[in-house]
Amino acid sequence: MKAKPTSSLRKFLSIPRKLVIVTHWSPDGDAIGSSLGLGNFLKNAGHAVKVIVPNDYPSFLYWMRGHSQVINADAEPAKASRFLSKAELIFCLDFNDLKRLNELGDVIAALDIPKVMIDHHPEPTAFAAYAKHVVKVSSTAELVYEFIRELKGEKRIDRHIADCLYTGIMTDTGGFRFPATSGRTHRIVANLIDAGAKNADVYSRVYEDNSENRLRLLGYALQEKLVVLPEFRTAYFTLNQSEHARFNYRKGDTEGLVNYALTIRGIVFAAFISEREGQVKCSFRSKGKFDVNEFARAHFKGGGHRNAAGGQSDGSIENVVKKFKDLLPQYKDKLNKV
Ligand code: 5GP
Ligand code: MN
Repeated sequence: MKAKPTSSLRKFLSIPRKLVIVTHWSPDGDAIGSSLGLGNFLKNAGHAVKVIVPNDYPSFLYWMRGHSQVINADAEPAKASRFLSKAELIFCLDFNDLKRLNELGDVIAALDIPKVMIDHHPEPTAFAAYAKHVVKVSSTAELVYEFIRELKGEKRIDRHIADCLYTGIMTDTGGFRFPATSGRTHRIVANLIDAGAKNADVYSRVYEDNSENRLRLLGYALQEKLVVLPEFRTAYFTLNQSEHARFNYRKGDTEGLVNYALTIRGIVFAAFISEREGQVKCSFRSKGKFDVNEFARAHFKGGGHRNAAGGQSDGSIENVVKKFKDLLPQYKDKLNKV
């Protein structure tokens, strides 16, 4: 199925519709920022809109307009299914494979309702009737801004929508640092600030909302758990279930941790391997040409972008760490070429 461009939705959206917006498992700032940004925009335009997430997201995103009406499908699956089955269109934001939604993805795949994909991850699957898919763009929030422009709705971006989209762009660019941050990104950000986005407040709400436990967990990980392997230009952290419990782990507490490993001089590949609720999850980051999307897809049932990806593995955390370390020799040449 060849997806139609999202610009062709303008006519369909010219009368009130029942719409659902979904995003990926473990939603991050871009997932929630783009979903609530688009949700608020479509609601203001007269549509009935429901944002549904597969599971909970970090509390530093709870301040956004519309948060209290979001349905968490993990907690309320029947409610989520009810809204989904009545939808006329399902927007799928910041992912391109329904597998990224776990059980919620199975529910959506079974529905004969057209889907709209707005996403910037590589290697999209073909489930959407409409798509705006651009890999080189900084964030899904940037693409949502473009979509609003296609609907001739730029002037209707209020300060709440602007805050949401600003959050998505700010978080996915690591605060406007990552290479995908373009002149266009900054021009969009400038428009969002002109539309009322409170950039300093957004920064503070997202990045200055640490609990004492979170900061101490960071300190513990940096001091006690960082492993540096200069031979492979690799550094990684691990945290097991009991370490998470010791610091009263809350969702989002380890977000960004992996990036510290990548700031070490000479390191081009960083990993964070964590065990929570009996699951082992991996986060990968790289600098330059080393492709962690490929690495995560090949070995950890995951994916992502070239320089930021994730995945998971069955078995104990000890075995996953061993698997990770045993893979490094076969990548030694690539890691040393970066
Ligand atoms: P993080 O390490 O912050 O969880 O994720 C980094 C990037 O990898 C994000 O773009 C995220 O969407 C992607 N990612 C994380 N985990 C997975 C996964 O299990 N599967 C896929 N396909 N992508 C993932
Ligand atoms: Mn994103």
